[in-house]
Amino acid sequence: MSLAEQRDGAGSGAAETFESTAPASGAVVGVFPVQDAEDVRAAVDRARVAAAAWADLGFDGRRERLAAYQGYLARRVHELADLVHRENGKPHADAIFEITLTIDHLAWAGAHARKVLGPRRVSPGLLAANHAAWLEYQPLGVVGVIGPWNYPVFTPMGSIAYALAAGNAVVFKPSEHTPAVGVWLAEAWRAAVPDAGAFSVVTGLGATGAALCRAGVGKLAFTGSAPTGRRVMAACAETLTPVLMELGGKDAMIVDDDADVAAAADAAVWGAMSNGGQTCIGIERVYATERVYDAFVAEVTEKVRGLRPGTDDAAAYGPMTMAAQTDVVRRHLDDAVAAGGRIAVGGTVEGRVVAPTVLLDVPETSAAVCEETFGPTLTITRVRDAEEALRRTNANGHGLAGAVFSRSKARAMDLARRMKSGMTSVNSVLTFASVPALPFGGVGESGFGRIHGADGLREFTRAKAITRQRFRLPVDLMSFTRPAAAADALARVMGLVHGRHR
Ligand code: NAD
Repeated sequence: MSLAEQRDGAGSGAAETFESTAPASGAVVGVFPVQDAEDVRAAVDRARVAAAAWADLGFDGRRERLAAYQGYLARRVHELADLVHRENGKPHADAIFEITLTIDHLAWAGAHARKVLGPRRVSPGLLAANHAAWLEYQPLGVVGVIGPWNYPVFTPMGSIAYALAAGNAVVFKPSEHTPAVGVWLAEAWRAAVPDAGAFSVVTGLGATGAALCRAGVGKLAFTGSAPTGRRVMAACAETLTPVLMELGGKDAMIVDDDADVAAAADAAVWGAMSNGGQTCIGIERVYATERVYDAFVAEVTEKVRGLRPGTDDAAAYGPMTMAAQTDVVRRHLDDAVAAGGRIAVGGTVEGRVVAPTVLLDVPETSAAVCEETFGPTLTITRVRDAEEALRRTNANGHGLAGAVFSRSKARAMDLARRMKSGMTSVNSVLTFASVPALPFGGVGESGFGRIHGADGLREFTRAKAITRQRFRLPVDLMSFTRPAAAADALARVMGLVHGRHR
């Protein structure tokens, strides 16, 4: 279905429609059909047919078509960035950055699928020495992808690109706040890869997403909030549909005694405030050791004072995409202040624009420290040492990502390893997201499963094991014809081979 047809609600049979509006102006960006369970099932049925042809193309055929898609996107970065800017509210330059990352991941997924997933021989081991053993990763058929609005290109494409490269068809339900971007991505696919209907979009609100969970997909890749994730899991449990959960975070930065304080402050401000703080892997808390705390706070507050949010292209970040998110931010600020916290800079909310805000002395039990704020705010807490910082970091139920700043390589790597999170960057923030070979995903309340990298390709497959007998042994242990003494002989061999281990 084309963008124009989506706008008219044509072709879906859906009578109901919804509008997506620009956060900056309230102008209507598009009107889209609210697709119901019947529409969604029909889309999944169509995708199932396309999936068979897509799988038959093999790794090389798919790689060629994914490359055509990536080329198509690369030639239209500004066009797509403009749509992202209008519908999501982020500055054009940030949208370009998001699209660039996406294209890089697409290229990696297409180029590495064969190596990661293709058939390979593995050792048959002692007991099956007369067999050849093969492992390969087969596609699941149709993958349902439900996405959020904060990175409307990069986030869903983390699932879509890897699922397609692994040989699946994809039906994507974009967020109701950014449907135009979702529809654009599917239209671009049709334009770039006209012979493959492997990627399509359904639009609507939560109920359309719920219908996708129940439409017979081989896997459901969900990115969004934990409460919705629980509903998605419950719906998928009805049909034992496997799920991938990319949920929220409350990421922390640890600033150790020997950190480059200016660099840490710069990274913390960008990690917390870019995209208006609406980044699942954004920095929301900093734990700085006594030795560096004062200097760090001074650097951060100075930098934050220089930031100007707004709706123009020169703004550091845009308005909140979802109007309701400003209420969450306000509640966290009020709660922090009521609990004895201090606002060092910022603290105001005007319309949809939240001032960049730094909070100090906020108790660990306050919502601003415990819950995902998803706004341009940062708490900075003084700790005795990096061990205390790590304890506090790991005390949160979320575990998406985080950062460590330290000049000691060994110390920083040790802290990074012990951080309870799926990803950690040392002496930078968010870098892991731009490394296609690295897996992306969380632990605890932040979800499970991985997109990106080899793990992200395998996530959208089932492992298939095959053995082929190369020659018959004189004694077949897995036959009723085996002699009675065979078991004793086998026990003796095991004793010789493994019995020496104590
Ligand atoms: P959300 O949970 O409100 O919605 C996400 C999607 O789920 C939307 O498309 C929505 O229509 C759909 N949905 C709603 N109800 C549903 C239901 N009952 N069944 C199926 N689908 C349903 O989240 P959001 O506000 O769009 O996104 C923000 C959240 O996403 C934040 O918590 C953020 O941290 C998280 N996020 C996580 C990652 C990650 O990779 N871990 C990336 C980006 C965003």
